Amino acid sequence: MPSLRLDTPIKFLKGVGERRAEQFARLGIVTSRDLLWHIPRRYLDASTLTPMAQARVGAEVACIGRVVTKRVLPTRRGLRVFRAVLRDDSGVLECAWPGQAFLDRTIEEGQILLVSGPIRYYHGRQMTPREFIILGDGDTELSLGGKVLPVYPATEGLSHKIIRSLIDRHLDALLPLAEETLPPAVRRSLDLPELSQAFLAVHRPATIDAAEIGRRRLAFDELFDLQLMLLRARSLAKRRRSGIAFVLKHDLTTRLRESLPWPLTGDQKKAIREIAADMTAPERMHRLLMGDVGTGKTVVALFAMLLAVENDYQAALMAPTELLAEQHAATLTSLLEPIGLRPELLLGRLSPAEKAARRKKLAAGQARLVVGTHALLEERTSFHRLGLAVIDEQHRFGVEQRSALIGKGDSPDVLLLSATPIPRSLALTRFGDLDVSALRERPPGRGAVRTGIRTRSQRERALAFLKDEVKKGRQAYIVLPVIEESERADLRAATTMAQSLTARWPDVRVGLVHGRLPADERDTVMRRFRAGEIGVLVATTVIEVGIDVPNATVMLIEHPDRFGLAQLHQLRGRIGRGAEESYCILQADDAIPPRLQAFAKTDDGFEIAELDLRERQMGDLIGERQAGSFVVSHARLPDDMDLLSEARQLATRVLELDPELRRPEHQALRRRALARYPRAVELFRVG
Ligand code: ADP
Ligand code: MG
Repeated sequence: MPSLRLDTPIKFLKGVGERRAEQFARLGIVTSRDLLWHIPRRYLDASTLTPMAQARVGAEVACIGRVVTKRVLPTRRGLRVFRAVLRDDSGVLECAWPGQAFLDRTIEEGQILLVSGPIRYYHGRQMTPREFIILGDGDTELSLGGKVLPVYPATEGLSHKIIRSLIDRHLDALLPLAEETLPPAVRRSLDLPELSQAFLAVHRPATIDAAEIGRRRLAFDELFDLQLMLLRARSLAKRRRSGIAFVLKHDLTTRLRESLPWPLTGDQKKAIREIAADMTAPERMHRLLMGDVGTGKTVVALFAMLLAVENDYQAALMAPTELLAEQHAATLTSLLEPIGLRPELLLGRLSPAEKAARRKKLAAGQARLVVGTHALLEERTSFHRLGLAVIDEQHRFGVEQRSALIGKGDSPDVLLLSATPIPRSLALTRFGDLDVSALRERPPGRGAVRTGIRTRSQRERALAFLKDEVKKGRQAYIVLPVIEESERADLRAATTMAQSLTARWPDVRVGLVHGRLPADERDTVMRRFRAGEIGVLVATTVIEVGIDVPNATVMLIEHPDRFGLAQLHQLRGRIGRGAEESYCILQADDAIPPRLQAFAKTDDGFEIAELDLRERQMGDLIGERQAGSFVVSHARLPDDMDLLSEARQLATRVLELDPELRRPEHQALRRRALARYPRAVELFRVG
């Protein structure tokens, strides 16, 4: 065997060989470096395990036990369930894997299994494992014997056991290859161990705490490399992006500020300052303005639009639906009235003659501000001098659509709006060349939204409350997770709900919207709701983000556990838009889960975005894993936010000193970062 290097293919390692190497490649592990960086997904020691006798219904637990019996059972609905009974020193636990009859070929009586997942009540206590690992056969010890057991991500044919023993066997030879990239002073100030110590700690931990210290070091390196790429990409992009340098004329913008019916919030002022700084700089602005529904993004966008207009440019605001475009046009019209300007509105449903007339005004430069839908993107739409493109609900447009609008001008500035707050940790890791402004504060003068959780036995009372509010002249939404009952027999469905309420409440007008209605029908129902002709709107999650019906003050959400927290928050944003107090009722099924309690306690979209992120476990932080590279996710956000900030600062300092990573002391860094992000080689091309 040639002497071991980081890029030595693992097929040359003792005990691996061609066939295993192919299996390893499926996990993205090709070289020794990849193997060293293949970090346990978690650890087991006695403290993380629950004795089977103590596994309570409703809890998430991990247990180790021996398979006593197993069999495949058919259910009434034709699903086949694999069931196994496990025993440990304290008792037994039944485990059920619905629809996974094939496990009968994998799991054998006498094996020692690690299972983890929720405990439910189904003719007795039962676990439906999210994960299981075969730890050994007949003669393996049942207990971990005081040891900490690393559990590695595995794949078919390559069990965690094989991976564990191979890594353990080669670890002593691999450790000296870990190239230290952090100067001792930096390491000490961040309280991080040496790289080779970190690898030792994660692969062969003495305690779970020791493994965590090792993981933090690897997470730091991972976040650091990522920041290095993103910051470099951003500075290159900025340099390439020359644009319009607008001038602060204090003309229209000042007149708007003086005529506003209310003072701007602190966050609005700050966002306007950030935007003005971008727009007056010679580079093109590429900024995301995010804030919950109702935080007042439109008026901030309007300041930007007026800054363009007072510089003799045109400004366009594009929205994903006609309803939202109309709403924006109405808002802008009233805000602009005191200064004698009117926005033009361009929609697909206008008559051809009307559209042609408005397009002509745009092309001639007579229309200076325009609000529209996709109609703005059509080939026949052209601008005299487009200086600013504002895109509302930016994620609802494709990349091509966004660039189609931008392409209607000569390097216009770009402002993206989003009602989906992104936690800072994500904004820092996901967006390379995007600047972000955030509106957290809500303008005063709105009724609060109160969120309550009701259980099954309180459902009728909740419905009666909703009906009372509607009788008082308010309007209400009822949101359900599915359209038809046939999709999921165990969930209430929108269609059935609308029918039953229509029958039960003859004196209330009930409407129905869902994703399978044709767009024009959906629009008609939404318009009737907005006009107050419908009292209760039964809907799936299609009810639009940003739709503004101030009189709608009640929302009842059925099966809230079927929705992500961010999605629940989006839904809740439909109410609380008027001066009246609003009520959001989460109609829970059984026990009230902690996640819903946390949700009910806060109305801050950024806080909920963090909860949501934690819930989704950051699986997608770094993006997809590529074979041959060693992109795996060690960082846990938002928990590692402290590391992320430090990594970003350090990456900024390194790039300031050495933007192309040419210095000798940065070569190890360069090698590691490029091994992790091979495509980034473009960013650091020397010369
Ligand atoms: P968003 O687009 O962020 O959901 P909008 O821009 O539609 O929010 O603003 C929501 C409402 O709040 C609008 O009726 C707007 O006129 C009003 N508004 C905006 N800023 C303020 C403020 N500073 N004080 C009071 N009301 C405001
Ligand atoms: Mg809006």
